[in-house]
Amino acid sequence: MSSGDERYDVIVVGARCAGAPLAALLARQGFEVCLVEKAELPGDTPSTHIFEADALAFLADLGVLEELRATGAPLIARADARVGDLRWPATWPVRPGDPGGVMSVRRFRLDPVLVDAARAAGADVATGTAVTDLVRDEDGRVAGVRVSPPTGGGETRGGAGTGRVLRARLVVGADGRSSTVARLAGARSYHVTPNQFALFWGYFAGATGGAEPTFVFHRWADRVVLGCPTDDGLYQVQVGVDPARLRAFRAGLPGSLLEYARAAKPVAEALADARPVGEPRGTTHWKGYFREPAGPGWVLAGDAGHFKDPTAGRGIGDAFLQAAELARTLAEHLARSTEELDAALHRWGAWRDAEFVEPYWFAADIGSLAPLPAVLPEVLRGMRRAGTADSLFELVNHRAKPTDILTGPRVLGAVGRLLARGRVGVLREVARLAADDRRRRALARRPRYETG
Ligand SMILES: Cc1cc2nc3c(=O)[nH]c(=O)nc-3n(C[C@H](O)[C@H](O)[C@H](O)COP(=O)(O)OP(=O)(O)OC[C@H]3O[C@@H](n4cnc5c(N)ncnc54)[C@H](O)[C@@H]3O)c2cc1C
Repeated sequence: MSSGDERYDVIVVGARCAGAPLAALLARQGFEVCLVEKAELPGDTPSTHIFEADALAFLADLGVLEELRATGAPLIARADARVGDLRWPATWPVRPGDPGGVMSVRRFRLDPVLVDAARAAGADVATGTAVTDLVRDEDGRVAGVRVSPPTGGGETRGGAGTGRVLRARLVVGADGRSSTVARLAGARSYHVTPNQFALFWGYFAGATGGAEPTFVFHRWADRVVLGCPTDDGLYQVQVGVDPARLRAFRAGLPGSLLEYARAAKPVAEALADARPVGEPRGTTHWKGYFREPAGPGWVLAGDAGHFKDPTAGRGIGDAFLQAAELARTLAEHLARSTEELDAALHRWGAWRDAEFVEPYWFAADIGSLAPLPAVLPEVLRGMRRAGTADSLFELVNHRAKPTDILTGPRVLGAVGRLLARGRVGVLREVARLAADDRRRRALARRPRYETG
């Protein structure tokens, strides 16, 4: 080790939804933390930004909620839901003490607030500084990172922004889908699922959201439309586009975004007198995946380790959940023996997979081009009669699993009602869903690995 190398307990690579709060939580526990980010912040990232009750509770605990509210983003308690041919007005499920149900803050505003929390907690923050390599000890264990010289704006105690090598007991890759840490550590991917819909989104000024701010989620036929008040008085819309229609959609932008969005009645109403602000954005190709979560001296958090179809709007909240759980794990095990630390990170990885595998496949199904199975709206119709349909949104609060909602009795009841209406095709559909479920359970036991 060169005498000029800087030493930390933990180096966190990537300073957005996973990395910045993790750095804050670790620094608050008294660990020496360096948060390394290649971008200059504030800066945007190609992502919409809706997060839910569990994320709001996390942000309140972190002490940043008031700052986020100051952006003008409302706390949303109502949803206008449509699943197939069933539409209903929902009250967002929350727990006592939750600050709210849903919020949307654009990333160039959200992420810097998280970074400020890390800085205030005592983490060294080096922005404009890219990790280019992992540093290993003689046993091959990851022992630090090599960083490129800062492009400006880096600020660290001890000069991480100018140093070439940063050393630490643990390197956390919170560096997103194209994770450098994952690639250099050789983490393999599994459950890899290419996207089906392309996603486009844009912002409007002068939208009227009705009496109360409302989150619109409409998924029917081959359409997905989301609408939501966001910060600064703007209204955000997001639509799913079948790749077969992509060429025409793109050629017609920005009008085609508006046309798609207006297909959902409450969004059409909200946008009646609105005008677009800025250019629509879109993303047409991505893959959902899990990556091997940890190895000697390294661990992955957030999108670096796991990405799911964004239609379900869970990446931000899931990054927070992982940061919180990883901070708890490290509080207990970072100072222990190498064997104990590795075993704890291994358990953390098993927790991650168990926690997110069901929501992962659910997100893939919601983001699938195939028509929604008829049994889903029928289950929800039954739940609506029982007054429990709003609990569907506990899925996006990450407080229920799909199997808690699509229970055996509810599915059987729905199948019975559909059969009574002569919908015999439902039997084929349920057989296909059961086969998918068996295949996914088998994959969870024996993942099919891919490099990268
Ligand atoms: C189109 C789209 C829409 C989405 N909509 C939503 C939504 O509405 N709600 C929701 O909850 N989630 C949404 N998501 C998911 C969400 O964006 C992610 O899950 C979330 O950003 C994960 O945060 P992260 O910190 O893990 O990664 P990121 O936000 O990707 O941050 C990683 C950071 O690492 C930095 N980095 C990368 N490489 C290096 C390096 N070598 N050295 C230093 N720094 C590096 C990057 O510059 C970046 O700042 C959406 C995603 C997409 C693609």
